Amino acid sequence: MSRIVYVNGQYMPEEEAKVSIFDRGFLMADAVYEVTSVLGGKLLDFAGHAARLKRSLSELDMASPCTEEELLAIHRELVAKNAIDEGMIYLQVTRGNPGDRDFAFPGPDVKPTLVLFTQSKPGLADNPTAKTGIRVISLEDIRWGRRDIKTVQLLYPSMAKMMAKQAGADDAWMVEDGKVTEGTSNNAYIVKGGKIITRNLSNDILHGITRAAVLRFAREAQMEVEERAFTIDEAKAADEAFFTSASAFVMPVVEVDGTAVGSGKPGPIAARLREIYIDESLKTAI
Ligand code: PMP
Repeated sequence: MSRIVYVNGQYMPEEEAKVSIFDRGFLMADAVYEVTSVLGGKLLDFAGHAARLKRSLSELDMASPCTEEELLAIHRELVAKNAIDEGMIYLQVTRGNPGDRDFAFPGPDVKPTLVLFTQSKPGLADNPTAKTGIRVISLEDIRWGRRDIKTVQLLYPSMAKMMAKQAGADDAWMVEDGKVTEGTSNNAYIVKGGKIITRNLSNDILHGITRAAVLRFAREAQMEVEERAFTIDEAKAADEAFFTSASAFVMPVVEVDGTAVGSGKPGPIAARLREIYIDESLKTAI
């Protein structure tokens, strides 16, 4: 079934949606994005995603295409028009179409391009993979130095995902200076002696919206949290490992570079955090 998508102020069938070949998102990956999950037809942590979008735009000196209220209205309209019960809303803002290719940023007369579309994923909350866990391999992190900005420069993460698949795994955890930065599209965690360990925020990783919520809920539940970088050897020797993202929530990792983590099965802390995250996020979903 064809989706109704949003492009620059208009809702239309996906077949009719067009962006110029001169758009800087297409030519230069000069664009940022957000992915917001939908459960029960409602948006999870919309305010968090809107705040990060604003920050990404500001760090790149890119104009905002509309207000947060307008963005919320577009998200809701797309959920309604496409009857999304469980799934995601993808949003992308590019620096727009200057009508030619030029490295210099265009002037303020060039308006940003705004595109949104839905991805229906029935069973998102009851994802069976959360019961079995996933396997990761480690790879050198060769991405750029501003990973805190959510740009569409996703070529290396895509290549890393393919290298993981070729190695018989599901995903890759990237490593820089001997320490795990993050997953291809998620934040990475280990659990040791009851303590949840995840890399501290910096320009080295994306400031995950799910990460922020999960750490808040963990602390509220009196779980111990330590924000610091960890090595692949620590991950192999951990009691549990998991990752978080807006679309996967909390996902157990049961194998790192061929070594079983803990029992080799999803651990109790990851399972509990997944449950708390879904329950608590649903309470504030809009
Ligand atoms: N790190 C990277 C590199 C990502 O691409 C993502 C998901 N887009 C995340 C972390 C998780 O962020 P969030 O919880 O906001 O989805």
